[in-house]
Amino acid sequence: MDVPKPHDFSLPFLKKEQVAQNAFAFYFDRKNSDLEFIAGQYTRVILPHDNADTRGTSRLFSIAVSPLQKELLRIVTKIVPESGSQLQRSSFKNMLFNLEAGKPVSFFGPMGRFTLRQDVSSYVFLVGGIGITPLLSILPFASAQKLPVQITVFLSFSTVEEVLFKDELLALSQQNPGIKIIYTVSHPEGSSQKWEGEQGRISTELIKKYVPDVTAPHYYVVGPQTMVLAMAELAKSLGVTEEKIIKEQFIGY
Ligand SMILES: Cc1cc2nc3c(=O)[nH]c(=O)nc-3n(C[C@H](O)[C@H](O)[C@H](O)COP(=O)(O)OP(=O)(O)OC[C@H]3O[C@@H](n4cnc5c(N)ncnc54)[C@H](O)[C@@H]3O)c2cc1C
Repeated sequence: MDVPKPHDFSLPFLKKEQVAQNAFAFYFDRKNSDLEFIAGQYTRVILPHDNADTRGTSRLFSIAVSPLQKELLRIVTKIVPESGSQLQRSSFKNMLFNLEAGKPVSFFGPMGRFTLRQDVSSYVFLVGGIGITPLLSILPFASAQKLPVQITVFLSFSTVEEVLFKDELLALSQQNPGIKIIYTVSHPEGSSQKWEGEQGRISTELIKKYVPDVTAPHYYVVGPQTMVLAMAELAKSLGVTEEKIIKEQFIGY
């Protein structure tokens, strides 16, 4: 497929859904849209409003749905509580949170190169928290297309309450022997929910436990900026060469 040209488009808002503590999915109707994108790309969401804070009226979000799902566009993001948190929710997120069903929303996209490559068949994804979003496009696409690829995904969350889309991704990995999913929680203690998976941050030991030849795959690293930089260093420390490390930094967190 040719790389789709970014352009302005508009989609009606459908609904929102809470997917974890302080995390929501937002769905838009793309039944009447000719939008084409490559799994892993992102889009700008534009929500003009009065009295916007200094961060402005638009944000970038990875498209969190397979391109084969022609009916919907989904984004997934953190929404901090309106009060009682040290973090101040942006006026943009307030607008997003309060969108009403049917409202047309403006977008510009698709953009980005955090996508699978024709000449690469072995991938390791190192994902920090909300950085899961491009995987919600790449994994169902790779699985449905039966792409001849091996994808190992390490996903790290601070607490059990923050874990995103575990059932959905584990189900995909069960259907597809080319996809391996490893969730890890760095602070499972103190949670009301039990955690039986891996614990601690993504480490060289954890990667070696699941990836037989650690320098062979391409490493795709995604999430908040500081995590991406730390995980890219981790990949380098395994002996992975710079050109095989592809980063998607969620600037703004
Ligand atoms: C290519 C690209 C793709 C992106 N894709 C996504 C995506 O799919 N989903 C997504 O949510 N964001 C994504 N982002 C980041 C997004 O564009 C926003 O910058 C981000 O969601 C923060 O939004 P906000 O400024 O409205 O702050 P809010 O979310 O309202 O947060 C308020 C403040 O709290 C801080 N904050 C909030 N949560 C945390 C936290 N956990 N740790 C530290 N500080 C925090 C923020 O920095 C901000 O200053 C992407 C960015 C890029 C460049």
